[in-house]
Amino acid sequence: MADLHKLTISELSEKLAAGDCTSVDIVNDVLASIEANDGSVGAYLTLNAEDALAQAEAADERRAAGEKLPMLGIPVAIKDLLNVKGQPCTCSSKILEGYTAPYDATVIAKLREAGAILLGRVNMDEFAMGSSTENAALGKTSNPWNLDHVPGGSSGGSAACVAADEAIASLGSDTGGSIRQPAAFCGCVGVKPTYGRVSRFGLTAFASSLDQIGPITKTVKDSAILMEAICGHDPMDSSSIEMDVPAFGEKLTADTSLAGMKLGLPKEYFVEGMDPEVEQSVRDAVEHCRNLGAEIVDVSLPNAKYAIAVYYIIATAEASANLARFDGIRYGRRIDGKDPADLYGKTRSAGFGPEVKRRIILGTYVLSSGYYDAYYKKAQKVRTLIRNDFTEAFKQCDAILAPVTPTPAYKKGDKTDDPLKMYLDDILTTPINLAGNCALSLPCGFASNGLPIGLQIIGDAFQEDTILKVGHAYEQTTEWHTRKPEL
Ligand code: GLN
Repeated sequence: MADLHKLTISELSEKLAAGDCTSVDIVNDVLASIEANDGSVGAYLTLNAEDALAQAEAADERRAAGEKLPMLGIPVAIKDLLNVKGQPCTCSSKILEGYTAPYDATVIAKLREAGAILLGRVNMDEFAMGSSTENAALGKTSNPWNLDHVPGGSSGGSAACVAADEAIASLGSDTGGSIRQPAAFCGCVGVKPTYGRVSRFGLTAFASSLDQIGPITKTVKDSAILMEAICGHDPMDSSSIEMDVPAFGEKLTADTSLAGMKLGLPKEYFVEGMDPEVEQSVRDAVEHCRNLGAEIVDVSLPNAKYAIAVYYIIATAEASANLARFDGIRYGRRIDGKDPADLYGKTRSAGFGPEVKRRIILGTYVLSSGYYDAYYKKAQKVRTLIRNDFTEAFKQCDAILAPVTPTPAYKKGDKTDDPLKMYLDDILTTPINLAGNCALSLPCGFASNGLPIGLQIIGDAFQEDTILKVGHAYEQTTEWHTRKPEL
């Protein structure tokens, strides 16, 4: 093995361009790494080894014919809620047993166009509802840094496979933190793009006004490259924005100065109960950015404290409507009944796991007549206040620095019997989904027990290039991203 699986997208695309390796070589190394480690990590639900090799051969031919795209020949893993024609799309739920996707999601079509290799499908919390991948009905995923700990969620498989070098990069989705939080827990980089930046066509909807697809990678530059491949307007998604895609990758240069930039520090983001090691690592990262030339300014996000309450009303309301389609008639599993209502009831009772049922019940309740004004309507009003906080803050700074999570990855089972405890951990990520702007997560240290800590860099709407620039400057002048878990 030439250890190609340990490299980044940008390193591999240089090697491919120089003729130092082929895409088939890369896929073979990645497959060997999966074979060696996935028994303990458990990231993959479906691995398409033969098909990946065939795609790699085709990519090598495209390169021989003169194509130079940066994703050409790079193997990526896909969160199991994105439709890939002819493949299962389980959302890690029993209710989608037997379903085969009849079409490609737009991001998948874009990846094919860019020449990326689709390796397989990775585990997640059922329908993306959760923060630890313990709500998965179809597999168990561990944190590669300590197999007794959770990988985060809901894109736990997407982060774990990248951290374990079982994929060069992956796609996840982020409704309330599901890209940034597992990236932080597994020591990866993850980007939640601005709402409307990436097409949601072919993404199994959880909460349509919050969902965005984004990359999980080993470096900031790799996220920029993958972003460039998946962003762009799509007439199939009515919320997709008509806007040119910046050359995210090329904009990241060797210049690591942050001179002239203002970075905001929100006092409300150092919440009660925050792990002191997380707080220290983030404060050290802030100092590091100051040393790179940035001016640090205090900003305030006074309504962020309501984000959990607002998020768990809006997200469950939208989920209850979106998941109504899984009724045993059109998709996946069916349990017959004496009449349609009986069939729906039996299918949904057997097909959905407990967390999904809890959310459907909560969402139906907050939308029901008599409660709609008190819960859903009020939540929408507070959502506007949360968005206004960000608008005000970005008048004073170019980007905001913050923690991603109150603690590093915890032990499996620690929060499974108390859903509220798990919900509360989303306090630092959900405000960004509610406001619709962008944020990334990248490694900024390690706790004394060896688990990674993440730094969140939050940007205004469509300011991905700003947060990528800050992240890249921080990363290139620190060494956290070079560490690897021992497997
Ligand atoms: N942890 C959050 C939840 O359980 C976020 C999930 C997500 O972003 N998909 O809803």
